[in-house]
Amino acid sequence: MRNQQATKLLFELSHPGRRGAIYPASDVPDRTLGDLFPSDHLAESLPPLPEVTEPDVVRHFVNLSTLNMSVDTHFYPLGSCTMKYNPKRHERLARLPGIGDLHPNQRPEDHQGMLALLFDMQEMLSEVAGLPAVSLQPAAGAQGEFTALLAAAAYFRDRGENRTKVLFPSSAHGTNPASAALAGFDTIQLKQTSNGLVDLEELASHLDDQTAVFMITNPNTVGLFEPNIKRISNMLHDVGGLVYIDGANMNAILGITRPGDFGGDMMHYNVHKTFTGPHGAGGPGSGPIAVRDFLADYLPGPIVHRGDDGSYSLETPSKSIGRVRSFFGNVGILVRGYCYLRTLGAAGLRDVSEQAVLNANYLKAKLEDILPVPNGQRCMHEFVASAKQVKQQRGVTAMDIAKRLLDYGFHAPTVYFPLDVPEAMMMEPTETESKETLDAFADAVRSILSEDPDLLHTAPHSTSVSRPDEVTAGRNPCLSWMSCPAGQ
Ligand SMILES: *Cc1c(COP(=O)(O)O)cnc(C)c1O
Repeated sequence: MRNQQATKLLFELSHPGRRGAIYPASDVPDRTLGDLFPSDHLAESLPPLPEVTEPDVVRHFVNLSTLNMSVDTHFYPLGSCTMKYNPKRHERLARLPGIGDLHPNQRPEDHQGMLALLFDMQEMLSEVAGLPAVSLQPAAGAQGEFTALLAAAAYFRDRGENRTKVLFPSSAHGTNPASAALAGFDTIQLKQTSNGLVDLEELASHLDDQTAVFMITNPNTVGLFEPNIKRISNMLHDVGGLVYIDGANMNAILGITRPGDFGGDMMHYNVHKTFTGPHGAGGPGSGPIAVRDFLADYLPGPIVHRGDDGSYSLETPSKSIGRVRSFFGNVGILVRGYCYLRTLGAAGLRDVSEQAVLNANYLKAKLEDILPVPNGQRCMHEFVASAKQVKQQRGVTAMDIAKRLLDYGFHAPTVYFPLDVPEAMMMEPTETESKETLDAFADAVRSILSEDPDLLHTAPHSTSVSRPDEVTAGRNPCLSWMSCPAGQ
């Protein structure tokens, strides 16, 4: 049984007069707030802050933390998210006073060490991408997409071209069309072939002098490397368009092939996915972009530059679209990524991808007889299985399996994405899991499928919150603890 204390709000633990800290008596004259602030700026009553002791606070948050699943506590095969283990050494290094306590407004000559680190990071990301220019600014993959598309728009504007269309396959991550729309483009979704790849005829029918960019994730969302990627890139370039590689799936191809080599003109990284920035609960992210030389002038600044004398300075490209984030981007995550890249080196990176692909294929092979994988004999770093058959036979849905996995101590895979696979379950084990963990997970899925469907429809049964009513939650969201009905 979980500790019920943990499900109470801190406000509910409050008792008047309880304190976490006792301050020494003041030895300077007392002033009232009314002396210091104009009275119309003061609230009429004190805010309803909880009054609790230090042990209350510590137990509350430690217990809350045990309700969560995390990469540190559970296997987390969340497809598309690359939930790999985050080495603790990188946490320590990122917190070193000389790194963690730097102020970004210091003069460049006073933080040459950090600029050297960021410069090296630019160089390494450029090398892994096969693209010459890098901006570290974007704070997430989605912002990287947006930033690169703004740079592309500025490039086309400069050339006097009126290109309005951004194309993407139907399996694209939702951020692709969202970024394109936000950057002012018309978005066009292309249907795919029945085996989950780009339909070349469909693509060709949308290519003309209005085509700006084709956005593609490679390997794609069903875990397949697009075999025609070079041809697709040539088709775009032949009409003067550009190719955007969504780099969220770089974990499959590090050191094996490079977006720049297969025709990409721009890409983003998700440092928090591929390069081990911790990213539970949606952040913090880091989404640097790499682009071809003719787009370099449009990147956001500052870009770190190394002079002939070995000193580092900051430069803003001549036609920059402007900043997309303060200072140098999410430096804390960039530092962790830097540690990871330096620790592994080129050979180690390639090893990461080979192991990630091997793990995914192993898990796929272990599950295929019960959860068929519609696309492809082999996968890259992830695969999309379908629970369509078990749904037809026993009424058990992908959601039922996902929820029941929580009772078995596993985070659920991504479900119902991509949309074109019925009852989709998208699994990405990553390279950091052992054979024992993968075997245990496959055994759990097998065991779940032999259970009574009624037990599965109401799972999970061992978590502090069982299955929420998602329709009600969507229609009547309860956004304030004060106005929520009890128990919600
Ligand atoms: C995660 C992801 C994104 C968005 O990246 P964020 O860093 O979450 O903004 C884009 N595309 C794909 C394929 C992804 O998996």
